[in-house]
Amino acid sequence: MQPQFPEFPDLDLSALAANASCLDDYDPNAMSVTQARHYIQQFLSPVSETEIVAIKASLGRVLAVPVTSGINVPGHDNSAMDGFAFRHAEAGNALNIVGTAFAGAPFTADIPHGCCIKIMTGAVIPPTVDTVIMQEHTTTEGEWVTLIKLPAAGANIRLTGEDIATGQTVLARGHRIEPADMGLLASLGVAEIEVYRPLKVAFFSTGDELVSLGQPLQQGQIYDSNRYSLWGVLQAAGVDMYDLGNVTDDPDALEKTLLQAAAEHDVVITTGGVSVGEADFMKALLAKHGQVLFWKINMKPGRPLAYGKIGSAHYFGLPGNPVSAMVTFYQFVQDALKHLMGAASQASPTFKVECVNAIKKATGRTEFQRGILFKDGADWKVRTTGQQGSGILSSMSLANCFIVLDEKTGSLAAGTLVEVQPFHGVC
Ligand code: AMP
Ligand code: MG
Repeated sequence: MQPQFPEFPDLDLSALAANASCLDDYDPNAMSVTQARHYIQQFLSPVSETEIVAIKASLGRVLAVPVTSGINVPGHDNSAMDGFAFRHAEAGNALNIVGTAFAGAPFTADIPHGCCIKIMTGAVIPPTVDTVIMQEHTTTEGEWVTLIKLPAAGANIRLTGEDIATGQTVLARGHRIEPADMGLLASLGVAEIEVYRPLKVAFFSTGDELVSLGQPLQQGQIYDSNRYSLWGVLQAAGVDMYDLGNVTDDPDALEKTLLQAAAEHDVVITTGGVSVGEADFMKALLAKHGQVLFWKINMKPGRPLAYGKIGSAHYFGLPGNPVSAMVTFYQFVQDALKHLMGAASQASPTFKVECVNAIKKATGRTEFQRGILFKDGADWKVRTTGQQGSGILSSMSLANCFIVLDEKTGSLAAGTLVEVQPFHGVC
């Protein structure tokens, strides 16, 4: 069933595509970034098929069922230090060392009254002792140890299950597997997990002026760069990608490629052909085969954007300008893909830093200027990459963040705090 707007229970995508005026606040010619995200969200339902993968093949995959622990971690009380394990009540005199416990080789004999054992980090604590003193706080003479700085009773012992208890949910459904999770799963003895099947995403470029790599450029032609940026962002998103090449602005060729793409994939992404001059043609094509909304978003770069369904496939029509294509991918498609992959939604972090240069901007639209975060003494600051034209792809390559300037913000003086959205974190 088509997901619907909670506030308009009878409205579905086809109604909206056919008659945009059926929603009071819906204006395809002045759509805010937030509104557009909200509309797209309404129509996304995650894949439901699952498969089993080995831990080493699970990076970036999305858990279809929660993982609960079948064991305690740690499995035994064990020593947090190299030192001596003893009964706190017997501290005071020198203690007789009756043996040694190693990690993986427990001490199992009796520890008589007034005695202790030497113990290594990670070694099991025998049940009759209760405290560990670190070696540096003792002196030893032959078989005897003197406790110089007595720790509190129970000190330096890692307790059974203090990291993870048996039955505890360790990773929730919808969690995307990160490197630490792979180690965590292994620590529980889990060798395989159930994840959602990968999302199949097809994409192609449109434009008579585009030339594929390996061919010489004729007058007025340009190399098709969008397919390569898209390849990169889709690879990072962890989907199965299908590059359908570039298609000329020819109705028959476009129709054929579009229909084939929609029939065989979960998502179809195109670049180009949604700007004012070309949209009519795409609109007619998409109206014939699907339910597609064409929006002019109050944003820069990336004003034109199309979203809808062709059969059961989700369709994203991104602008052709190389920066606009990437910005609209990051701001709309990336999140939508995560949702379709079954991943729990998580906004990408933003924070405020000082921008060292002045910024020129008109109010009334959101701008995603390209910025370079840099360290200035102890502080992180940002500067813009310079020219911000939507065709200047080198600005994306130079940048390590977006400077996000909302609709209310106008031009800013140097030294103003601005919101930044970094491209990369630690991992
Ligand atoms: P369009 O959205 O088709 O009107 O294209 C807008 C601008 O982006 C034009 O200057 C196109 O030449 C350029 N463009 C469109 N597609 C691509 C592409 N795949 N690679 C590089 N530039 C493109
Ligand atoms: Mg074009």
